[in-house]
Amino acid sequence: TASLASSDPDIAAAVAHELERQQGQIELIASENIVSRAVLEAQGTVLTNKYAEGYPGKRYYGGCEFVDVVERLAIERACALFGCTYANVQPNSGSQANQGVFMALVQPGDTILGMSLAAGGHLTHGAAPNQSGKWFKAVQYGVRQQDALIDYSEVEALARTHRPKLIIAGGSAYPREIDFARFRAIADEVGAYFMVDMAHFAGLVAGGVYPNPLPHAHVVTTTTHKTLRGPRGGMILSNDPELGKKINSAIFPGIQGGPLMHVIAGKAVAFGEALSPEFKVYARQVVDNARVLADTLVRRGLDIVSGGTDSHLMLVDLRPKKLTGKAAEASLERAGMTCNKNGIPFDPEKPTITSGVRLGTPAATTRGFGTDEFRQVGELIGDVLDGLALNPEDNSAAEARARAEVTALCSRFPIYS
Ligand code: PLP
Repeated sequence: TASLASSDPDIAAAVAHELERQQGQIELIASENIVSRAVLEAQGTVLTNKYAEGYPGKRYYGGCEFVDVVERLAIERACALFGCTYANVQPNSGSQANQGVFMALVQPGDTILGMSLAAGGHLTHGAAPNQSGKWFKAVQYGVRQQDALIDYSEVEALARTHRPKLIIAGGSAYPREIDFARFRAIADEVGAYFMVDMAHFAGLVAGGVYPNPLPHAHVVTTTTHKTLRGPRGGMILSNDPELGKKINSAIFPGIQGGPLMHVIAGKAVAFGEALSPEFKVYARQVVDNARVLADTLVRRGLDIVSGGTDSHLMLVDLRPKKLTGKAAEASLERAGMTCNKNGIPFDPEKPTITSGVRLGTPAATTRGFGTDEFRQVGELIGDVLDGLALNPEDNSAAEARARAEVTALCSRFPIYS
């Protein structure tokens, strides 16, 4: 059978260009990473041909003996990695992991309490345009205006007033540690389930540099492709076997059909990698790099929301330089540094413009960047943004100067070469 390049040159060319793009720019999108060749390879296998509705040992199709091996290994490794007794590795995405938990634990019309999108929560935690906001009575907590930290007394007051069935912690743009014990105490007081969505920081938990939510939460959801450095996908974890049964039924047959066995193979490989001692070193480096990047940006006159970071990500408040997230994202991209505009708490700008950018260190740390490189990246960002503040119409000179340094850095730390 023909190779991709000969059978479909258009797609092959787009893939080749995407590889070059990834090789030649510095990835600062906090939710992205660079998977190993082994993870890539697992996803490109014949496992994609297999239907395996059901769970290992209890399938609705024949011929599942080898995919059972794969899924069992993924489950065992996930449990070893996060210190839990139950894992469902079938959710096709982080959003579907969350939907699965909702399907298992709450009914349409029930009240849920999650962090608002504007404060750094995820769409699936009750935002108005999302199913979670349409099908449930979604009450949302935010962060304090003075320090951008979660206001636990606000969470407590909202829980007492609205008596949610489910309380959700975790988010997509919250850079600080979360007090899971405090959340659990609030959930217990009002008789709610407590779910943590650790999509962003799962790899940091696996590496032992961020608190593990599993001792506190009834259920934990995650993506597998962010700091955890696996294939795109989701997962649900718990220590409660009864909840596990409900969640299994919610994922299949509740909301999904046949599991993506090639992706589950990639998850198993990534979890195996995350169990290695090297991954602990990686996770530590991700956090050290984020601190250095944040400190450098502060020295360059930018504000960091909440004053810093405890994790892999930071929100940069661009208002000291009178820039918008939209303009900064575009200029940084032209300079070879990819990031996303992101609203900051109490942002006066629209979500399509924003006053901030979100930056993360997981991907560039995977390619080998340490604190020296991230100090350099911080200086380059400072140069580009200073240029943009001076010349909002045409920042091409500063962009070109930074681009040359970015290219040199990328060649020193090659990927997939
Ligand atoms: N939960 C959190 C906290 C996230 O940040 C994300 C992704 O951005 C998701 C869930 C959704 O994951 P996916 O994009 O795989 O649906």
